Order: sequence, then C-alpha cells, then structure tokens
Amino acid sequence: MISFDFEYYRPTTIKEAVQLHQSLDEQGKNPIYFSGGTEIITLGRVNKIQTGAVIDIKGIPECLVMRKDEQQLTLGVAQTLTKIRESQLFPFLSKVIVEIADHTARNKITLGGNLCANIIYRETVLPFLLTESQVVIAGPSGVKMRPLKEVFNQTLKLERGELLVQVITEQSEINSPSLSIKKRRQWDVGYPLITTAALKKNDSIKVGFSGLCSYPFRDQLIEQCLNDPSLSKEKKATEAIRLISTPILDDVHGSAAYRSFVLKNTLLDVMETLEEA
Ligand SMILES: Cc1cc2nc3c(=O)[nH]c(=O)nc-3n(C[C@H](O)[C@H](O)[C@H](O)COP(=O)(O)OP(=O)(O)OC[C@H]3O[C@@H](n4cnc5c(N)ncnc54)[C@H](O)[C@@H]3O)c2cc1C
Repeated sequence: MISFDFEYYRPTTIKEAVQLHQSLDEQGKNPIYFSGGTEIITLGRVNKIQTGAVIDIKGIPECLVMRKDEQQLTLGVAQTLTKIRESQLFPFLSKVIVEIADHTARNKITLGGNLCANIIYRETVLPFLLTESQVVIAGPSGVKMRPLKEVFNQTLKLERGELLVQVITEQSEINSPSLSIKKRRQWDVGYPLITTAALKKNDSIKVGFSGLCSYPFRDQLIEQCLNDPSLSKEKKATEAIRLISTPILDDVHGSAAYRSFVLKNTLLDVMETLEEA
C-alpha cells in the first residue's frame, strides 16, 4: 500500500507535460514523471519516494516512437523493454534487455524508467554509451538534443522539470559486433554482480560496466588499455582493473575481490570473442 495520496495526470503533448510539471512544482506538489511506474510504486510503498503528483508520459506520442530510417534509430522512452526487444531494431540493446528482470517485469519497465532509475544499475545505458547515442530532453526552455555521454555522469543529469523524451542512435553504430555478459551471484534472473557490455568499432574495443561500482560507466582509459597492442591479454585485463577509478562494490551480491576476479575473466572473454568478430 502507498501511504500518501497523490494526483495522477496523463498529458498528451510534451509541452503539456513540462508545463504541468512546472505548475505542480510551484504548488509545492513535488511532481515526478511516471513511465512504467514499477520503481515509483516500489519506492512509494516503503516511503522512499514522496510525491503529491505523478505525470504519466505514456500518452505522449514522441515518447512512444520506435522509428528506424537510413541514418538513425529513434526510441521513445515510454516504450517497454519487452516492446523494444521484440522490435529487434537494436540487437546490442536487446542483449542487455533480455537479462534485465523477468518477462513480466519487462512488460512494465520502460526504457526511460531504466535510464532514469534510482536503483544503481541502469543497465540499458551501456549500449547507448558505447554507440555514442544522443538524448532528446524537453524542459521549460524547450527541446534539446545532447550527446548522452555529456549528460550521463553516474546518473542522467536532468535539470528540475526536464523530461527525457527519446534516445537516438546512428545506424552506422548499430551493426557493430557487440556482446553483453551479465554475471549474477546466483539464479538466472536478478540484479547483476557485474554486467559488461562491449562493442568493437574500427578494430577498437569499447566497454561499459554496471554493478561493478555504484553507478554504470564507460572509461576511456580502460578502453585504451584493452586496445594497447604492446600488452598481452592477461596484462590488459589486470591493468584495466587497476585503472578503475571508483571503489569496486563490496555488498551482498559479492565482495570487491570476487568482483575483480570475475571481471578479469570476463574481460579475457570479451577480448577473445571480439578479436574474432
Ligand atoms: C523485478 C525487477 C527486476 C529488476 N532488475 C533490474 C536489472 O536487472 N537491471 C536493471 O538495470 N534494473 C532492474 N530493475 C530496475 C528497473 O529497471 C528500474 O526500477 C526502472 O526505474 C523501472 O522502470 P519504470 O519504467 O517502471 O520506471 P518508473 O517507476 O516510471 O520511474 C523510475 C524513475 O525514473 C523517473 N523517470 C521515468 N521516466 C522518466 C523520463 N522520461 N524523464 C525523466 N525522469 C523519468 C521517474 O520519475 C522515477 O524517478 C528491476 C526492477 C524490477 C521491478
């Protein structure tokens, strides 16, 4: 049960959503955008989110777009992970999605909800970071398009009242060889011990991680190390781990030492697989 009352709004345009957010904010209602709603409901039940109004974005056509043209793929953030995976428009993203939650939860969880989640994993950000994707953000001052890597630093850095609308990826990035390896402590479904996403472009490997530290990230220094032709694979993997600049998680899913051990083997697998791709 959710112990507090809140108002529910379902605008049909971006402008209406942003204006609603502004006016509800001015009324002190601490509004939040509502996409799949699974996290809001979960956190609301344990009083970790308090809001007087939710703005459901599933009635906004731009947030539901799944469009592929010759140049670009555009994904609206209110689409569910299931719909995006079934479309098979972005195989790398599908590989990440299929490991998130279970089918029933993926029918509700949306792309935008995952990218803006409070929970630390936000795994869908990895394929977008590695494919140099752009995000469309709407706010009180209008709609803008920005490279994801400029606005994603641990979390998506949205200004108050800003709405994530779409993620845009160049078609030229989409067909690069890629893989996603999710290691869990146990079971086939659940949060990651570490998820490693990797992509090969112009003979270079790009990598991103979720579950390794307290936020998902991609690190150029780690990539440089993995692509250094003067090092053996073993040395690359060891050095890459040494380069991780934030503390490795040490929690119920696994100790930092165990995560490092798993990561080293995963990096060796990534290099082996993508070398042949
Ligand atoms: C059973 C289960 C298993 C899970 N397993 C995983 C997992 O393995 N890996 C993983 O990464 N995650 C996992 N999750 C977490 C899940 O991806 C997040 O909780 C996600 O936030 C849920 O998406 P939603 O669409 O329901 O979000 P919502 O509850 O709608 O929103 C979540 C947050 O994002 C904000 N938000 C949503 N859309 C926008 C937008 N367009 N613009 C601005 N802010 C927005 C909301 O205001 C809210 O703060 C799991 C969740 C469940 C229920």
